Amino acid sequence: MAKGDRPWKVAVIGGGPAGIYASDILLKQLSQKAEQLGIGAEAHIDIFEKNPAPYGLVRYGVAPDHPAIKLISKALDKALSNEKITLFCNVCYGRDISLEDLLEHYDALIFATGAGRDRQWNLGRGVEGVCGAGRVAGWYNAFPQISAPPLSTRAAAVVGGGNTALDIARVLLDDPYSLSKTDMPQRIWRQMAGSRIRQVHIFVRRSPAFHKFSLQQIRQLKACSLLIVDGFSKRQLSELEPPSSPAARAVWEELKSAPEGGDGAKKSYLHFSTSVSSVVAPAGRLRGIWARREGCPGEEFFLETGLCVSAIGWEAEKLPELPFDAARGTIANEKGRVAEKVYASGWAKRGCEGLIGSTKSDAAETVDCILSDWAQKGQKPIDLTPAAAFLKGKGVAFSKKAGWFALEQYEECLGKPEGKARVKVESDSEMKRVSGLE
Ligand SMILES: Cc1cc2nc3c(=O)[nH]c(=O)nc-3n(C[C@H](O)[C@H](O)[C@H](O)COP(=O)(O)OP(=O)(O)OC[C@H]3O[C@@H](n4cnc5c(N)ncnc54)[C@H](O)[C@@H]3O)c2cc1C
Repeated sequence: MAKGDRPWKVAVIGGGPAGIYASDILLKQLSQKAEQLGIGAEAHIDIFEKNPAPYGLVRYGVAPDHPAIKLISKALDKALSNEKITLFCNVCYGRDISLEDLLEHYDALIFATGAGRDRQWNLGRGVEGVCGAGRVAGWYNAFPQISAPPLSTRAAAVVGGGNTALDIARVLLDDPYSLSKTDMPQRIWRQMAGSRIRQVHIFVRRSPAFHKFSLQQIRQLKACSLLIVDGFSKRQLSELEPPSSPAARAVWEELKSAPEGGDGAKKSYLHFSTSVSSVVAPAGRLRGIWARREGCPGEEFFLETGLCVSAIGWEAEKLPELPFDAARGTIANEKGRVAEKVYASGWAKRGCEGLIGSTKSDAAETVDCILSDWAQKGQKPIDLTPAAAFLKGKGVAFSKKAGWFALEQYEECLGKPEGKARVKVESDSEMKRVSGLE
């Protein structure tokens, strides 16, 4: 007899791409492998998402001028449409539901809570004008209640050597006309259009040999600004052997062909092997930063700026009752296994490395662990009270899949008069109203 007389019940915590892909892959793998594994082939999945809208950083991280990536939300909608998946938005693990609740009601829990917190920069804490990339990306992506960073400064600084740093630099320099075609609400677009930022200086601690930028990101930055690679970095580049991989070589060629100076209405500067050493902030307000060249004692320079954004990575929040791997900034896990019946997937499992697509392979590994654990251990008794009933019993208000699809439709309607695919709703209460919070 198959190990499992009733459908398996799975809770997924986090409705970002990792949570949605894990749900989709689990249902598919189960129907393909159940017989061979000797387990029941039916399962129902409840996804708990803390925000009024799902899809995590696809909605609130990916830059608005990357519409093709934003379209991944349509693929996620398709996966979510499966009737074996129920979505509960506005339900936060640690606030509304506990580990005990979930273990009582489910055969497996998949934590796909991402790594949505800016890694703490050791300079400028509490200084007005110093903030993390998450705050800036959250603002231009209309995350509820995030105010604009200071935009009245002519030069901004970005600390970090990855694609997020280039995203932030590019959006800060982007032509307001091209941003007007994105899903950005008018209010935010006006703030953008009124920005006085004309230069962004990107401080990369590593040498150009170890950059982590993609070719597309460098080209897009070049398209919206005069990209300047400073003399120090140019000398480093000229000493480097051309990289052997075609992708790295193409970036190297773009960097080598960039000028060391020049005129342009908007400029972006790349300073490799350069770290910000201190911030100058009289009365707690940023006025400038000192930067120094790595390995060149005494070589320092000052940049007058009112905005410094640290884009030095992300980490998972330490969730109640779950083990935390502080070194990796993730839920402690082994190939996705956290504890009995508890698993992790996506950035919460692996850390802030990799694109949206890589959360699929990640999910597949986690699902393999779940299915093999089910095959070994069989089904244990659980409380079969539906999630909607136990949430209501705890006084937790939530919206469901139909509410999310209604919100999407509403945003698409808001976009129609302006010829846009959608305009995002930025107010928490409006999102809840439109999605019919129960
Ligand atoms: C600024 C930025 C730009 C990016 N741009 C691109 C790009 O252009 N292309 C690309 O492929 N990738 C891009 N990425 C990477 C991509 O966003 C990630 O690979 C992907 O989002 C990780 O998916 P995830 O589901 O693990 O995490 P997330 O997307 O962070 O999703 C986690 C979800 O869990 C929810 N959650 C968290 N805590 C709780 C809780 N306690 N209870 C309930 N729910 C909870 C969150 O609200 C969120 O919805 C970018 C990342 C960033 C930071």
